[in-house]
Amino acid sequence: MRFSLFRELFSSSSGILQLMADLGEAVNSDRQFDMLGGGNPAHIPEVQKHFRQRMQTMLNNGDEFERMIGNYDGPQGEATFIEALSDLLEREYGWDINPENIAITNGSQASFFVLFNLFSGKYDDGTSKKILLPLTPEYIGYADTGLSKPTFTSTRPHIDFIDNHTFKYSIDFDQLKIDDKIGAICVSRPTNPTGNVVTDEEMAKLVTLSSDHNVPLIIDCAYGAPFPGILFTDAQAFWNPDTVICMSLSKLGLPGVRTGIVIAPKQVIEAMAAANAILNLATGSFGPALALDLVKSGEILDLSRNIIRPWYEERAMRTITHLNQELQGLPYAVHSAEGAMFLWIWFRDLPISAQELYEHLKQKGVLVIPGHHFFMGLDDDWQHKHECIRVTYSQDEENVKHGLSVLSVEIRALYSNSKQGNPTHGD
Ligand code: PLP
Repeated sequence: MRFSLFRELFSSSSGILQLMADLGEAVNSDRQFDMLGGGNPAHIPEVQKHFRQRMQTMLNNGDEFERMIGNYDGPQGEATFIEALSDLLEREYGWDINPENIAITNGSQASFFVLFNLFSGKYDDGTSKKILLPLTPEYIGYADTGLSKPTFTSTRPHIDFIDNHTFKYSIDFDQLKIDDKIGAICVSRPTNPTGNVVTDEEMAKLVTLSSDHNVPLIIDCAYGAPFPGILFTDAQAFWNPDTVICMSLSKLGLPGVRTGIVIAPKQVIEAMAAANAILNLATGSFGPALALDLVKSGEILDLSRNIIRPWYEERAMRTITHLNQELQGLPYAVHSAEGAMFLWIWFRDLPISAQELYEHLKQKGVLVIPGHHFFMGLDDDWQHKHECIRVTYSQDEENVKHGLSVLSVEIRALYSNSKQGNPTHGD
């Protein structure tokens, strides 16, 4: 069979495809895998209980269920939910927005497909633009979304050591070039894969750069504020008319309902709604229906602050303690865990590439993500890209611990076989 060039946009070498295929394989195979690879949120009983009850209420409440499954929503998304969200954000955060500033999508992955194509590629003045990622590594799911290639440009981050085994990336503002080849700036906060939270100071500089150059600043808050608020440091949530905030119900515990939220200037929302109609006809009604009462009452913020954030923070700290014990004496460093649900581990002078390490571990039943997939727009041959991996700590704790033990045995053997890793220089 022959395909048009469109097929190449969905290539089998895409990192996100490998990640989702691994997830599917692990879920559907008879073999037991330690799933340290995907970004599946945890099944937190208190959160799940809420959604089960809400579903039961919907079923018992007249024809609410039938209306939810039996009607298409408008292309901008379910109007009652949008109104409730607009009220909440105005009331709680003082954002100067109204329902015209909000669109629903079928998951924020779908939001990014539209946004990145709205702001990259050919413009009517003849220029060709890219999306600037001010900090790499960045979310793997962005990598293949652009119809015009290359879609992204980026720069290396600064690396600061907090202690022997903890580091933090920050934006190298001296290297950021914004000219007429940049259509938008995008940053995830907290960042997937590193758990980094771009500081308020860095955000303020990005806001200034975006308004000085009249390009939108897209802030991916899939894990961040206002909800699900998986942030372990102080970070202000903000919106202004130069920013596009992308949120999602997924990391709240609802990845299966596929609901993304875009908060943006009216023209962007109109473009999102048009794309929704053409690509999907309408957006799914299930997520907005399940989350409506939480948004109306504002309880979504309490759930985020009192249940979801503490759950992830405790899990993060326990996983780091375990990891430090396992890797004792080896030359590794973990990115400061400031949010989201991942640990980003750097093995200095790793004797094989992170891709090979991923393959070895997969054979042993442990799934991680090799680091090089996360450096979109960074074309230089930086060895660091091949020395890092991402592990997820949101799944069953025993499996996570077991997976990290298998990882540490593998890493210890690699360093001692190559004699490159001097076990003493790790401490
Ligand atoms: N943004 C980030 C940073 C993510 O990690 C993810 C999913 O893992 C998404 C966006 C996409 O989320 P969804 O399409 O489930 O809303």
